[in-house]
Amino acid sequence: MRKITPILCLIVLVGACNSPKNESRTQNEEVRFEAFKEHFIEALWAKYPGWASSVGFHKYDSVLTIPNEAERDASIQFCRAYTDSLSKFNLSALTINNKTDYYLIKNVLESTLWYAQVFRSDTWDPSVYNLGGAFSEILNSSQLTLEERLKNIALKIQKIPAYYEAASKNINNPTREHTALAIDQITGSISVFDTDILKAIKQSSLSATEKEDMEQKCKTAIGSITAFVDFLKNLKNEHPRPFSIGKEWFSKKFELDIQSQYSASEIYEKALQRKKELHQEMYALSTQLWPLYFKQEKMPGDTLGTIRKMIDKLSLQHVSRDSFQTEIEKQIPELVTFVKNKDLLYIDPSKPLVVRKEPAYMQGVAGASISSPGPYDKNGNTYYNVGSLASYSAAEAESYLREYNNYILQILNIHEAIPGHYTQLVYSNKAPSLIKAILGNGAMIEGWAVYTEKMMLENGYGNNAPEMWLMYYKWHLRSVCNTILDYSLHINNMSYQEAMHLLIDEAFQQEAEAKGKYKRASLTQVQLCSYFTGFTEIYTLREALKNKEGDKFELKKFHEKFLGFGSAPVKYISEAMLK
Ligand code: ZN
Ligand code: ZN
Repeated sequence: MRKITPILCLIVLVGACNSPKNESRTQNEEVRFEAFKEHFIEALWAKYPGWASSVGFHKYDSVLTIPNEAERDASIQFCRAYTDSLSKFNLSALTINNKTDYYLIKNVLESTLWYAQVFRSDTWDPSVYNLGGAFSEILNSSQLTLEERLKNIALKIQKIPAYYEAASKNINNPTREHTALAIDQITGSISVFDTDILKAIKQSSLSATEKEDMEQKCKTAIGSITAFVDFLKNLKNEHPRPFSIGKEWFSKKFELDIQSQYSASEIYEKALQRKKELHQEMYALSTQLWPLYFKQEKMPGDTLGTIRKMIDKLSLQHVSRDSFQTEIEKQIPELVTFVKNKDLLYIDPSKPLVVRKEPAYMQGVAGASISSPGPYDKNGNTYYNVGSLASYSAAEAESYLREYNNYILQILNIHEAIPGHYTQLVYSNKAPSLIKAILGNGAMIEGWAVYTEKMMLENGYGNNAPEMWLMYYKWHLRSVCNTILDYSLHINNMSYQEAMHLLIDEAFQQEAEAKGKYKRASLTQVQLCSYFTGFTEIYTLREALKNKEGDKFELKKFHEKFLGFGSAPVKYISEAMLK
């Protein structure tokens, strides 16, 4: 903090010399806040070097923060000091872009304090001590030479014994689920040290002694990691903490992570209501389609059974395992054309999306995902990673392909690519805010992708075919049930059987998918609510604007203006757009 003050004063003085009084005050506040942000980000990276590396800022790659009491205190001090500096700004004198930045900074400081003082997952979730990803990111970063990267790693790796010593001291009464996850993942992380880094050392032009020294450091590091895994395996934990975090924590975490105008329980109620409506609409579509697909066959007597049979039938229409990626590649330009023809929003042709096979280090994570260039690498490519089915048995591949059948595959491409995540990303990169690139709101990002699925269908994508709508509803039900599951497991003591009933019988998921979702919901909290919450907020905003503007409402304008705010929480965008 001491370093910042003189620079800020100087800027304020310079700014004060020209322009009339009121205007100059506003301008000063803007200038002062811009300078504040710059210094805040610099200080943030110095304080949280691991976070810096993960967004592609490499100045602190060689630093490994030891998770001990002193470090926690320093982090608390950091957040208090910056909360204090932030409170000195006159919010009403800031532009909307800076206002939302202000809120994002305020929120990250408040969150960090809450996590460090109340939530304390560093004591009950040992999987936070997995260093595999951090080292692998540094090793694979494209901005430094191999030798520079290895020198950073050499400095960082020697702190690993102290790191795991502090980690063991922190662990107290962890949950059974997070302990099992930690044992799995941290064991898996060893390959980064005994394979990836060693291979890179051999390929490098480091001297023989440097190489030997690094190999020795790797060995020591692996010893510490193995000892930590053994410590977890042998932990006497007769009364483990339950994974569900309860209403008080869940509500607070929802408030901090999602930053919504709604509370957790309001969103939960909305999700229950939406599930009911979706079942009604899906049943109506299924009865309409029944004679076409089942001829004389009698319909099952119950709503859910009828929908399930219709969905299973439609899921048989799918691509072959060899054409999964090419089919996705083929659909991207078709989606672009549709968006253009219907005048839904502008798509910048200078930033093409590269479809690629999922790289090895991502394998087994998801069917498809978007990899975007970080805020410090704006010219990097945006990739659409498509999972390979190569390791699947014939039965597994068939089940997967039915899940991502011809209908769902199109919706997936809308969500991930156009006009979903990829399009949002292009707009957000144009919004001039490093803060939003770093602290971007997850519910806004996911909410936008979920919103575009419905918006495309509303505008005639899929020719309004009842099949397309039915399958869309099934997909949408997933976001809705993610929220119900998350809330119910953490607050309502939902049992495993009840969770399976929700996901399999009421959301028509395959057993494997349902089990995976249950696991994810027991290991995380709140994140699964982000999809439906963001969607609900965006949709509500659009309808409110339609009401307000009547004939003057233009969908394209709404989309472009909305995305122009960058990845800010929807509640602040709503405030600005409804004003
Ligand atoms: Zn098949
Ligand atoms: Zn998404």
